[in-house]
Amino acid sequence: MQKSEAIQYREFKSEKINEAFSVINYGLSQIEIIFSDLCNRVCDFCPRSVDYPNVNNNLSLNDAELIKKRLIEFEYKGTISISGKGEPLLNKNSVECISKLKNWKPFLITNGDPLLKDNTLVEKMFDAGLNYLIISEYDSEEKFNMWYEKYRGYRIIVKKLIGNFNYDEAKFSNRGGALYDIKKSLTSDCFLPFYKCVIDYDAKVQFCNNDWTYKYEIGDLKKQSVKNIWLGEEMMKFRKLLLNGERSKIKMCKNCNVKGNIIGQKSFDYFVKEFYE
Ligand code: SF4
Repeated sequence: MQKSEAIQYREFKSEKINEAFSVINYGLSQIEIIFSDLCNRVCDFCPRSVDYPNVNNNLSLNDAELIKKRLIEFEYKGTISISGKGEPLLNKNSVECISKLKNWKPFLITNGDPLLKDNTLVEKMFDAGLNYLIISEYDSEEKFNMWYEKYRGYRIIVKKLIGNFNYDEAKFSNRGGALYDIKKSLTSDCFLPFYKCVIDYDAKVQFCNNDWTYKYEIGDLKKQSVKNIWLGEEMMKFRKLLLNGERSKIKMCKNCNVKGNIIGQKSFDYFVKEFYE
């Protein structure tokens, strides 16, 4: 694997998150939104290859509208990634859902397969307000080159993920332990719940995108505001444990091999200063 593509995506992500930091949003700089819990592939680096259920659950237009309202109410200034645990373009309403989130210039990560079935999809997504398209290419060099050729003129990044993988964080983590256990919990701090949260297809908010085992719910946008969830008692308790390196005391974290302290320093420092000093 060439170094450049993985790094290019990581730098893109890091830059977006750094730019998105805002005190008004209490450090929340990235929201990952799950359009679909279904995937058309079963890859060996994904918990679907073990026991993660493949279920046809999709974000509805009503819930996309609700998310939009909640983000406006929160005056959200951060970035939105459309990705998550399934293939987002299997959601039949993906273009309309993008349109509802266009204020936040979302980027979407796909395995590319639905694009091969519908040649008009990329144009429709960008017309609807997509800001960047990230394609994870798992199959071949030919396809990797084809994406750039075919979508020249669009803002795309193709991640070259062809071949065998070592499960390191630059490519794939152990998904919070869903793929395999680690011998001993890490003791390094983890910034993820300081800068990021996940909104599932049903508008429930999850603790961390790496938690595939518990999908631990920290709130529900149908009942609560983003602020109430993000600054809720539970999240504050988890953050305190994480900043002390006590991953072993959080069931979602104790088996996770993600370093977690590469991106999100600004949000981490903000929480330490404002809430924990
Ligand atoms: S340790 Fe892993 S599961 Fe826990 S917050 Fe960090 S990335 Fe998420």
